[in-house]
Amino acid sequence: MLLKGKTAVISGAASRRGIGRATAELFAEHGARVAILDLDEGASADAAASLATVEGGAHLGIACDVTDRASCGAAAARIIEKFGKIDILINNAGITQPVKTLEISGADWERIVAVNMTGVLYLSQAIIPGMKAAGGGSIACMSSVSAQRGGGIFGGPHYSAAKAGVLGLSKAMAREFGVDGIRVNAVTPGLIQTDITGGKLTDEMRTDILKGIPLNRLGDARDVANIYLFLASDLSGYVTGAVIDVNGGMLIH
Ligand code: NAD
Repeated sequence: MLLKGKTAVISGAASRRGIGRATAELFAEHGARVAILDLDEGASADAAASLATVEGGAHLGIACDVTDRASCGAAAARIIEKFGKIDILINNAGITQPVKTLEISGADWERIVAVNMTGVLYLSQAIIPGMKAAGGGSIACMSSVSAQRGGGIFGGPHYSAAKAGVLGLSKAMAREFGVDGIRVNAVTPGLIQTDITGGKLTDEMRTDILKGIPLNRLGDARDVANIYLFLASDLSGYVTGAVIDVNGGMLIH
């Protein structure tokens, strides 16, 4: 039980096979009360209701669009009202699109950057003041191996750019809020088997990608959830501004 008595907020955690959902399940198993944020209120509430029960009351599932500052603020207020405090924030929501540089429209760029990068800022801005007041917390932000190697896996250059922006933002927040007892770290997964690829990952692409993975398998959502758990818990109490690869060796620095 690494998170007993803690409260955790996880964005993008309603999708059934997703990393956020696997993280919510793992955190609840470790005793945390969890707030699931996702676009649809019903899906978020259903996901929250499916989690293991913990001492101190039910989990919470609410609609929150991380690209909308007011939506993030309203979600944070509802969570504080119900849980009284927030110890952990997992900035996990994201979307991708497999296109090349010359095909990226202005709308594609705005959408990909808004969800993957701006959303990290807006939700952090909504939650950090409460963490500061409570004396600290832990934030983990979702980047990608795509940020480190310039794409070439599934997402396009706009995805790569947005996820690289998350690394800078996460490190800058780590520097700024260390004094408040708030740790901020990032994770950089390789290819994880979820529904984010929307059926567009072909068998040929999969075989090609596997050739470059020393551990010879694609990742599972739990592989990333385990790293989020480490970063959320006191096991990582002296870790901030770090970037943790979860890629089976696909990229070894
Ligand atoms: P997923 O599609 O299962 O989960 C993404 C979730 O984000 C969905 O539940 C979706 O509804 C939600 N979401 C989308 N836009 C949102 C918004 N504006 N506000 C709130 N929620 C929103 O995919 P996943 O693979 O579990 O992705 C989780 C994160 O991991 C994403 O940030 C993704 O970029 C990142 N990532 C995934 C992989 C991979 O291979 N699957 C690799 C590296 C990084």
